[in-house]
Amino acid sequence: MFEDIIGFIRDQYPGGETIPLHAPVFPGREKAYLEECIDSTYVSSVGPFVEAFEKALADFVGSRHAVAVVNGTQALFVALKLAGVEGGCDVLTQSLTFVATANAIRYAGAQPVFIDVEEDTLGLSPRALENFLQSQAVISAGRLLNRTSGRPLAACLPMHTLGHPCRIDEISRICTEWGVPLVEDAAESLGSFYLGRHTGTFGRLGVFSFNGNKIVTTGGGGIIVTDDEALARRARHLTTTAKVPHPWEFLHDELGYNFRMPNLNAALGLAQMESLPRFLGHKRALAGRYAGFFEGTGWRFVQQPAAGMSNYWLNALLLDDEPQRDAFLRTTNEAKVMTRCLWRPMHMLDLYRHCQRGALPVTEGLYRRLVNLPSGVFL
Ligand SMILES: *Cc1c(COP(=O)(O)O)cnc(C)c1O
Repeated sequence: MFEDIIGFIRDQYPGGETIPLHAPVFPGREKAYLEECIDSTYVSSVGPFVEAFEKALADFVGSRHAVAVVNGTQALFVALKLAGVEGGCDVLTQSLTFVATANAIRYAGAQPVFIDVEEDTLGLSPRALENFLQSQAVISAGRLLNRTSGRPLAACLPMHTLGHPCRIDEISRICTEWGVPLVEDAAESLGSFYLGRHTGTFGRLGVFSFNGNKIVTTGGGGIIVTDDEALARRARHLTTTAKVPHPWEFLHDELGYNFRMPNLNAALGLAQMESLPRFLGHKRALAGRYAGFFEGTGWRFVQQPAAGMSNYWLNALLLDDEPQRDAFLRTTNEAKVMTRCLWRPMHMLDLYRHCQRGALPVTEGLYRRLVNLPSGVFL
């Protein structure tokens, strides 16, 4: 029965011997911009492509400010710091995520607390979040504390899993009600909207990644978006070694980071942004064909929530159980059709096993049954 699926996938990617899960394509002005960048000699972290890329991204997502950095992981780390996360705090997040989400929390000196996700959106469950806050949050001396750890609940960091928007409006309402700063890990969801608004723009800060496997790549890169001018200014300052502008002196007024995106990477990214609408069209059309193919098979092909529009970054299929998932992964990969399971949930990694968590039945169920199907743009 998996042979039919392999045949269908091969039809979507004619000519390819190995079908990758998601490979970048460079159909636009990538080479022209890179050449222009090299000719200018401004290949490093100062240059006009950085600003142009930031503007293109900010305009696309509808955010006032965007600060481009070296990768999505460090973008998350800086965004959390700017949201007020510091040593000795807790951050509410999902266990079903790429390890960067939890790592960034640890880099900021805080501890992740894992909340369950939803079966339909694959993202943080507003209900589970609210239940956690109702049973665990206490206000002491004007601060919201986690009753179990005694630490401040400094932020909530949901993730838009595989590009599908989570119920971010409800999460945002709950965070506002409880006074928890909201930071969005939108690393996978460039081009995904919820209720007509782009993911990553619901919280105080949002983060996107431009790693080679994402929908738009800069080689390696990330960006912080926010509507708050002061936060944007601080993001720019912190990621530029906290250097105080001066014609010749090197002055640094705090512990900063060398995290700014090089001009060379931004040149690639600017060309990629010009192709983003086309990429989205291709990916959504492919998802539509997958959905049609899997209709009536008894397996659920994961589709965007009713109120959302997904970039379908990685297409996903829910199989019956773990043995079937493993058989599927073995058969397809042996046939050179790259498929993957989800990330091992954070609470199942030794690294994060000790962390506080709510009940995670949906997280564990999705991990055991979900497979990602080839999803790259084919031109
Ligand atoms: C890709 C990704 C990141 C950031 O990754 P970088 O490789 O550091 O750019 C963060 N969170 C999630 C969920 C991701 O998928």
